[in-house]
Amino acid sequence: MGVSTELLRKWLDSYDPAEITIGVVASHSSLQILHGARQEGFKTLGIAVGENRRRFYSAFPGADPDEWLMLDNYREMLDYAEWFREKNIIIIPHGSLVEYLGSTNFKNLQVPTFGNRGILHWESSRERQRQWLEKGGCSMPKVIDDPHDIDGPVIVKYAGAKGGEGYFIARDYRDFKRNVKLDEEFTIQEYVLGCRYYLHFFFDPTAEDGFQVQGRGANAGKSLGRLELMSMDRRDESNVDEFYKLGSLRDLREMNLEPSFVVTGNQPVVIRESLLPRAFEMAEGTVAASFELEEGSRGMIGSFCLETIVTDKLEFRVFEISARIVAGSNPFVGGSPYSDINEPFMSTGRRIARSIKKAIRDGCLDKILS
Ligand code: AMP
Repeated sequence: MGVSTELLRKWLDSYDPAEITIGVVASHSSLQILHGARQEGFKTLGIAVGENRRRFYSAFPGADPDEWLMLDNYREMLDYAEWFREKNIIIIPHGSLVEYLGSTNFKNLQVPTFGNRGILHWESSRERQRQWLEKGGCSMPKVIDDPHDIDGPVIVKYAGAKGGEGYFIARDYRDFKRNVKLDEEFTIQEYVLGCRYYLHFFFDPTAEDGFQVQGRGANAGKSLGRLELMSMDRRDESNVDEFYKLGSLRDLREMNLEPSFVVTGNQPVVIRESLLPRAFEMAEGTVAASFELEEGSRGMIGSFCLETIVTDKLEFRVFEISARIVAGSNPFVGGSPYSDINEPFMSTGRRIARSIKKAIRDGCLDKILS
């Protein structure tokens, strides 16, 4: 079903600009989003399942929503669509919302949502992500199609795995065979040795100043909007990050232990300044390519994250893209070494609210919502 631009505009016509409320599922990056919305003067709504979830927000009065919608199951959100619209709600999607609802339900949620839901199709498969990112000029880790061809470290990733769960490293076919779950869909990628950086960008298609993304193909010669670097993190992954404490990989194998990549937290980082021009080049290409993915694509809108590894040759490999706010932006509720240069205390959550506020003022909400 999805949501056409005509339908979105019809809904927005009935919205009272003075009463617009930011709604978010209480998880992932919701503290940051709620806090940012409050800073920009919005009323807020939290959506949660389970009293425990709601109670915990009272520990953070700076983010505690003005109102709650308590559900038995997140899929009930679909039935509340009219209720959301009557209350002038704009939903800010994040990774947990999409996971709880399922991508098809999210796409069909009949409520104005920040960002472009159409991009989800491209983000939701590794193969399509690769087409998109390579079109944007990003180098990606090689893919190994036949496990017999493994002749150096590879990482095996399962489709739809939550936060790296179940991933494993293999050095050869024997390793692969020993660990793989053949009943699940997987991809084998070259294991890139280097340091990981998760680059949080924001693309504002309504701004005409700053670093303007130059269009390609049908958009050649056009400036598409402003690209901003908000912050950068690195994830803590259990247990690979602490594995070295137990000895060499051989020792660990003797103990029948394999490294795992389950995300447990995030740390703020910055990269060498001389790597920033390349970071912008990759992000610009990715945004420009997002408009070329299919006929009539609205392209990237708002926050996105390039997940990268920088090798000792100072080259980036991009292994994934998230086309919405990532939890890695949570360390930056009070701003980051990058966003502070432009405006202090600007988190990604607040940047989203700022963008909505500006679009309300300029009467162009349909340009940033879907
Ligand atoms: P992903 O689900 O693709 O975000 O990957 C989860 C984690 O696996 C990342 O945060 C990295 O630590 C690791 N990883 C993913 N792909 C690679 C790769 N090609 N080489 C090395 N490490 C990787």
